[in-house]
Amino acid sequence: MPDVDVLVVGAGPGGCIAAREAARAAPELAVLLIERDPAVGVPVRCAEGVGDAGLREFADPTDASWVSRRISRVIFIAPDDTEVPVAERDVGWILDRSRFDACLAAEAAASGAVVRTGVAASGMDRVGERWAVTLQGPGTGGREETVRARVVIGADGVETMVGRWAGLDTRVPARDMESCAQDLLAGIAFDPDAIYLQFSDRDAPGGYAWLFPKGLGVANVGLGVVALRARGRTARQYLDAWIARRYPAGTRLGTTVGGVIVHPTVRRAFTDGVLLVGDAAHMVNPLSGGGIVNAMKSGRLAGRAAAAAIRAGDISAARLASYQRDWMTLLGDDHLKYYAIKRALERCDDEFFNALARTVNRIAPAKRTLGRIFAHALVRHPQLLAVAARFFV
Ligand SMILES: Cc1cc2nc3c(=O)[nH]c(=O)nc-3n(C[C@H](O)[C@H](O)[C@H](O)COP(=O)(O)OP(=O)(O)OC[C@H]3O[C@@H](n4cnc5c(N)ncnc54)[C@H](O)[C@@H]3O)c2cc1C
Repeated sequence: MPDVDVLVVGAGPGGCIAAREAARAAPELAVLLIERDPAVGVPVRCAEGVGDAGLREFADPTDASWVSRRISRVIFIAPDDTEVPVAERDVGWILDRSRFDACLAAEAAASGAVVRTGVAASGMDRVGERWAVTLQGPGTGGREETVRARVVIGADGVETMVGRWAGLDTRVPARDMESCAQDLLAGIAFDPDAIYLQFSDRDAPGGYAWLFPKGLGVANVGLGVVALRARGRTARQYLDAWIARRYPAGTRLGTTVGGVIVHPTVRRAFTDGVLLVGDAAHMVNPLSGGGIVNAMKSGRLAGRAAAAAIRAGDISAARLASYQRDWMTLLGDDHLKYYAIKRALERCDDEFFNALARTVNRIAPAKRTLGRIFAHALVRHPQLLAVAARFFV
């Protein structure tokens, strides 16, 4: 195994885009993308929803094989099951991530990166100007390999080890870790052009429950809960109860569990020769828990920053600090605001959301935008006003 310039650990959306962008920015560099699972994109641990504008920065969804559904509506559900349809706009897409991630990995390869599956990083040490990274797994033929990289991009998701190996603090406070459970349900009734989100302490304490259509009568149905607030019950138990109440006739075609970090970006997502992207650096929207587009945006910044640093012959932490600054300007600072709103919303009880749904439903459907809903919430809940005043006024 020859030494490489950039080693990207993890072929989720963040890692694939990081590898693609590094290879495109500096074609003379050796870029290696490794994925511990035998195939990129599976198993899917995601509800697969993305906004239209963010997605289009990276890939064109028109007639793409990796699209499951185009979504044009959002329907909020209050704890008492009152539905609040939000005004129609070009909302977004439900992906087929098994295909989407694979497609991004193929683009990384087409751009010049080497992609290896069934290969896990199992440790790394600083040796001179490089990181010596140990690789293991079926993709190495059962042998342990060591690859020396100038820059390691840790795109290894919520359970990141790259950050820890590099001495970065990626710990998550328990109150900001959501445990999620999701079923692929068939044979249920819903509007196939809409996503449904139910905020309710009874159904999903600390998080929310969702239905994201995959096709006619088939949907990702799941929820996230914060263990500290879950009264001793698991996300699985909450999901079983939610499905029994709302979709009792559904047939379960698949099931998954996973964690979502609803915490702002880590203070340092960089050190000498290391950058962290996506979930590994807590770059998820703390309000929505969405992280696919964020992972790609941070991957793009990281891939380009790594390529530029290597070309300049300076891969020091001082040089790579610009990556963190660029990320905070792009989205990280917004996430701090969303996080403050999330914390304020945690203090609102189910009765607040029921009352909000009733007043918002008095607004004409065509005028029922997210901004107007938020304005109503502000009027009803002064503590949200304090948060808004701090950040938006
Ligand atoms: C139930 C659930 C529902 C979600 N729904 C949505 C949604 O609808 N929309 C949205 O935007 N976000 C959603 N998310 C969040 C979203 O899945 C993540 O934010 C996104 O996948 C982050 O991308 P990433 O590239 O940072 O990490 P990941 O997609 O997690 O990719 C990390 C990759 O690294 C690999 N890896 C890990 N360790 C190693 C190692 N040591 N060596 C090699 N490879 C390694 C993993 O196998 C994995 O493939 C959801 C998450 C969950 C759990």
